[in-house]
Amino acid sequence: MKLMGKVACVTGGAQGIGAAIATRFAEEGAYVAIADINSDGELERGLVARGLKATTVKMDVASEASVNSAFGVIQEKLGKLDILVNNAGIGTPVASILDTSPEDWERTLRINLTGTLMCTRAALRLMIPCKSGSILNISSNVGKRGVPLRSAYVASKWGMNGLTQTAALEVAQHGIRVNALLPGNVDTPHLTEVVQMHADADGKTFDEFSTMLKSLSPMNRYVELEEIGKVAVFLASDDSSAMTGQLINVSAGWIMY
Ligand code: NAD
Repeated sequence: MKLMGKVACVTGGAQGIGAAIATRFAEEGAYVAIADINSDGELERGLVARGLKATTVKMDVASEASVNSAFGVIQEKLGKLDILVNNAGIGTPVASILDTSPEDWERTLRINLTGTLMCTRAALRLMIPCKSGSILNISSNVGKRGVPLRSAYVASKWGMNGLTQTAALEVAQHGIRVNALLPGNVDTPHLTEVVQMHADADGKTFDEFSTMLKSLSPMNRYVELEEIGKVAVFLASDDSSAMTGQLINVSAGWIMY
């Protein structure tokens, strides 16, 4: 058990990649706070039914008041915070730069990037007095290259990478590590939505676009949710104690730098 005795918060933890990470963390012994704007508590109930430790916390990462209130609940209920996973994110819009409205741009950056900043600030207030902590930002392989029709999303992920390395430099003195996990294409509701929008924009079927996406990987496949969960445990746990400020690709070889 790599995370026994640890308290972890996973934003956007109710479904997709966040749920896979929350599940894996709980299986490794952590008490997991599933922080999501939209959760019916199903994941918490499933984990608790297996004898694992989890609680659901309502959090909108785009609202500083909501973020601060949720971290207050975590502190009150669980007493500390060892691990934060900044995972909550949105994928829209799929549109050219000319067609991307400032409102869509700002909403994407607000949730994906400013949300990461606000959750990091709230977590650091709990971690710095303890002189330890591990923060993991779920960025993307598109944070290392451009992608047509995804300007807002791509910019938000490049921003997350810069924030990861800046935070790592600022908080190393407090015994806190900050790393980023950069998934390739992982089969989640988010990816289904994005593939459909790209297929529509390119005049392709869903399956045609999906096949093309898989072929970007030399392994010719998507990444499995469990494969993200395992690397997240490594980066959050003491197994990666000499790693901070790192941008780790988990993309079945799509990006190699
Ligand atoms: P998803 O849409 O399946 O799940 C996202 C979760 O975040 C949902 O539970 C949703 O309710 C929550 N959420 C959305 N807005 C929120 C907000 N304002 N406050 C709190 N919670 C909020 O997405 P996913 O595919 O699991 O993606 C998770 C993360 O991984 C995102 O940051 C995404 O950019 C990143 N990512 C995904 C892929 C992929 O292929 N799926 C690839 C690279 C990176």
